[in-house]
Formats: sequence, structure tokens, C-alpha cells
Amino acid sequence: KEINTRENNVAKIKVVVRKRPLNRKELSRKEDDAVAVHDSSSLTVYEPKLKVDLTAYVEQHEFCFDAVLDEDVSNDEVYRETVEPIIPIIFQRTKATCFAYGQTGSGKTYTMQPLPLRAAQDMIRLLHQPVYRNQNFKLWLSYFEIYGGKLYDLLSDRRHLLMREDGKKQVCIVGLQEFEVSDVQVVREYIERGNAARSTGSTGANEESSRSHAILQLAVKKHIIVTETRRQRDRDANEAKNTKAVGKISFIDLAGSERGADTTDNDRQTRIEGAEINKSLLALKECIRALDNDQIHIPFRGSKLTEVLRDSFVGNSRTVMISCISPNAGSCEHTLNTLRYAIHMW
Ligand code: ADP
Ligand code: MG
Repeated sequence: KEINTRENNVAKIKVVVRKRPLNRKELSRKEDDAVAVHDSSSLTVYEPKLKVDLTAYVEQHEFCFDAVLDEDVSNDEVYRETVEPIIPIIFQRTKATCFAYGQTGSGKTYTMQPLPLRAAQDMIRLLHQPVYRNQNFKLWLSYFEIYGGKLYDLLSDRRHLLMREDGKKQVCIVGLQEFEVSDVQVVREYIERGNAARSTGSTGANEESSRSHAILQLAVKKHIIVTETRRQRDRDANEAKNTKAVGKISFIDLAGSERGADTTDNDRQTRIEGAEINKSLLALKECIRALDNDQIHIPFRGSKLTEVLRDSFVGNSRTVMISCISPNAGSCEHTLNTLRYAIHMW
């Protein structure tokens, strides 16, 4: 990688790892902490292993990333490290995406939950600056979920949504509700409403939400003052839109990475969902790599997730991936898988 893109705090792709602390259950089981964060960019995983003669030994795996956040790092610091630097360039036609990746229970939701609210707060502050106020910039919020390859609007009673490509090869999600927001408290209410609508089943909330991708988007749009002639023209074109997209940031709480392996489960539905999740995580990796290599062809057709994000993978875009890892020795295999996935991006 070129040094200068790494030094720039708005690098095209940024890969951040976050370790969560051992939880009460793990502590009560006296599980070992198998992850040591050395400094702000490197860590070691100590993997317990057995030799053929069953003697135990530990294999060490070293990793380096743009940033490694230890268990005592607050959500506020996570925001400052990941999303904050991107906010100003959203107002300059940039599309950005921030993902949380990792096994179920590693802290994806804990990490992602506060980010959109903090971002909205900063964006609303920017909207009030004369330069943007004069251009009539406004902030719009939408929140939806991909579950079993289908799209559901989390802000309109889980309405099933379909995707369509318009004449300009722009992806649009037909009927997705978008709300103009100018107040942080209102943003908070939408987020809470959407959270409550996330997939939950008899098996418990985390169990079900671990099989879905939740996508919250904050879009900056320029409101065009519609003049009479303009209005007439719009009517003629049968297109009454009077807003123009400027930039957008998507926050994605991905399905549990281990769910991609559910493809051998006995339950048919679980198997189908596992295959879909596997497909989307692979497609995501390929799209981000293509983006990083300035490839013309971005393989976004690989999954619903990447199709939905198509317009964020072209042109001037930024990607932040937050790989969440559990510290307990029992999760080593998943932790190593997560870090290896992240290494492919870095
Ligand atoms: P995931 O969404 O990846 O399945 P969660 O975000 O639900 O995982 O986290 C699992 C549990 O661990 C939750 O109870 C959460 O509050 C806790 N947790 C996760 N990350 C942290 C952290 N950095 N500090 C403290 N608690 C955390
Ligand atoms: Mg979660």
C-alpha cells in the first residue's frame, strides 16, 4: 500500500480492529484472554493447540492494522477514530460505508449503535454552517434490514422492499421510507424505532439479528428551489423530485460472520440463510478489494448486500471496516477468521 494513503486520515479504506473485554460468563469460567493489543496498530492472538501426543502448546499470530482498539477504548474514541474524519467529505459528494464485522457476541451492535447518532449530530452542526445552509442542504435518514436475501424497511412496519435499477444505473430501493431530520432527538427516536423492528424470533433477539444485516443511511441532499418552468419540466418528465443527492454514509451491522458457516445445519431455513450470509460476506470482501485496487469492474452483483451498496462502491468513496473480536481463548478460531478476513482488506 502507498504510504501516503495510509497517512491520510481519510484513506479510501481503513481497517480497524476492536477487542471487547472478557464478559462475566467468560470470567466466571476462568477463560484465558487470548488477545494482546500491543499498541495502536498491532496485536497478537495466542491460540491454544494440542500436539498429536495431546500435549498443549500455544501458537502465536501477529497482526497489524490501521488501528487496533483495546478493550478499554470507549465508543466515543471509536467514533473519533473511524467516522468523524469522514463526515466533512460527505458534504463534498463522497459516499462512505462503515461496517462492523465479526462473530456473534463480539461487539458489532455495541460498536455500531452509537455511531449514526454521533454522526448525525456532527452533520446537523455542519448543516447550520452558512455555506451549506445557503445551498439548502438537508439530512435524510433511512433504516432497513437484509434478512435471508430480502429487504425490509425497519421504519415502516418491516415492509418488504424491492430493488430496481434506474435509467442511470443507480440502484434504488422502491418504497424505502426516508425521513428528513434536523434534530438529534428525532434521529434518536428513528434509530430506536428501527432497532425495535429488527428481526427477532422465538430464539431471542441476538440469535435472530445475528442472521441479518442492518443498514442505516444518512444522506445529505440539496433541496432545489423549484421554479415554475422547472416544475413544468418535472411534471413533463413525470418526475416530481426536487432534491439532489450530495453524499451519503451507510452504517452496517453485519450478520454474525460465523453464520456463513451455517450451510451444513440440518434446518433447511438456517442453511439457506447461512449460504446467503456467506455469499454476502465474500462479495463484500471482493467489492472492497476491487475498490481499493481502482478496478473499473466492481463485482457488486455477488449479493443483495453489495447490490444495495452499489452506489457506495463507485467514484469517490470511503470504507471503514471495524472488525470486532472476542478475547476469550474459546473464540480463537472465530477471532483468527475475523482477523484474516480483515487482513484481506488491509
Ligand atoms: P454482536 O452484535 O457482535 O453479536 P453485541 O454488540 O451484542 O455483539 O455484544 C455482545 C455483548 O457484549 C453485549 O452484552 C455487549 O454489551 C457486550 N460488549 C460488546 N462490546 C463491548 C465493549 N467494547 N465493552 C463492553 N461491553 C461490550
Ligand atoms: Mg448484534
